[in-house]
Amino acid sequence: MAEPSSECSIKVLCRFRPLNQAEILRGDKFLPVFQGDDSVVVGGKPYVFDRVFPPNTTQEQVYHACAMQIVKDVLAGYNGTIFAYGQTSSGKTHTMEGKLHDPQQMGIIPRIARDIFNHIYSMDENLEFHIKVSYFEIYLDKIRDLLDSEWGGTGGYWWALGSTGSHWEDLEANSGGLGSYWKDWEVTGEHWVVTGEHWVVSGGHWVVSGGHWELLERCGRPQPLLSPSVTKTNLAVHEDKNRVPYVKPFWGAAGALPVLGCPQRVPLPADMNEHSSRSHSIFLIHIKQENVETEQKLSGKLYLVDLAGSEKVSKTGAEGAVLDEAKNINKSLSALGNVISALAEGTKAYVPYRDSKMTRILQDSLGGNCRTTMFICCSPSSYNDAETKSTLMFGQRAK
Ligand code: ADP
Ligand code: MG
Repeated sequence: MAEPSSECSIKVLCRFRPLNQAEILRGDKFLPVFQGDDSVVVGGKPYVFDRVFPPNTTQEQVYHACAMQIVKDVLAGYNGTIFAYGQTSSGKTHTMEGKLHDPQQMGIIPRIARDIFNHIYSMDENLEFHIKVSYFEIYLDKIRDLLDSEWGGTGGYWWALGSTGSHWEDLEANSGGLGSYWKDWEVTGEHWVVTGEHWVVSGGHWVVSGGHWELLERCGRPQPLLSPSVTKTNLAVHEDKNRVPYVKPFWGAAGALPVLGCPQRVPLPADMNEHSSRSHSIFLIHIKQENVETEQKLSGKLYLVDLAGSEKVSKTGAEGAVLDEAKNINKSLSALGNVISALAEGTKAYVPYRDSKMTRILQDSLGGNCRTTMFICCSPSSYNDAETKSTLMFGQRAK
């Protein structure tokens, strides 16, 4: 296995967006003072990070400065996670996704997809790649699959498989770990194959071996969530050990990219931004490779996480559901902060992964020799002074 890119596995990068039109019209002041490429002063106090990106930094510069190396590491068999943290409208989605089909404005995720597939196309014929992509959100500690509209009626929650109404916790209890359900999720041509110990899905039926699941009939034919790559002609169809066909490479970049504009996200009501800022969205790319001659295998996972907005909800305005939502977001973000700062402290510290659903999911891709990058996204406006300082403090905890 190749050497990891560096010893320190947690990087904290700080990015400021420009003042927007409304802020300029309102006469807001531009707060940050940039010093060198790793420090920024706000309100007289300096904050030091691995890198600080001022507002004029391009998407390409950001990608080169951090994410490109992570792609290399994941292709070399390491796991990694990239987060974007910050208040709503601070530039998280701009950094992670950007404008998907604009070569200048596209963000980290489409650039990563492009580089992974370029890499695969350039590799020698003896290497076989399986790429799996998942996209889901965590909202109020529930997980919703953003790629899957198949489960319909129930809102497409992950655990609504077969609409038994089971809860996440039941699944976990019955399956020996939440990971076994989604970790090994694969769409192979016309079949859905779940290659974990617990169950196999193929044809029009759920066949569940182990756990408490019965044979569950699906309605309709399984649809690959993304079309298998048709962008490269002459793709070989291979069969795996269980004689299940798959295409190499599994999805072309063009196949992976539409995920981001997936239907679950688009037709949300006018408050879509509102909703997406209240949930954590997680894009997972899992790459498995095998050298068919030597049978040497490598597996690497990369989580790309656009976190819920970190702003405090005003104490007077929020009640009922809004307050519950705000409390839940605060709780999950501080659980993440605790995990990251325990990891930053070093080897002996207790790492409280189990304090939130998100950190449980990300557990094997955080810390250890995993690559972890946290983007701290900030508004430069004097209007957001307090939130910006609290965001910068969050970033400092990880150092
Ligand atoms: P968030 O996801 O944190 O709520 P967005 O990424 O949606 O914030 O950014 C809010 C607005 O600011 C968007 O219109 C976005 O295009 C713009 N924006 C954010 N960061 C930058 C940047 N670095 N350069 C230019 N525009 C940006
Ligand atoms: Mg956003």
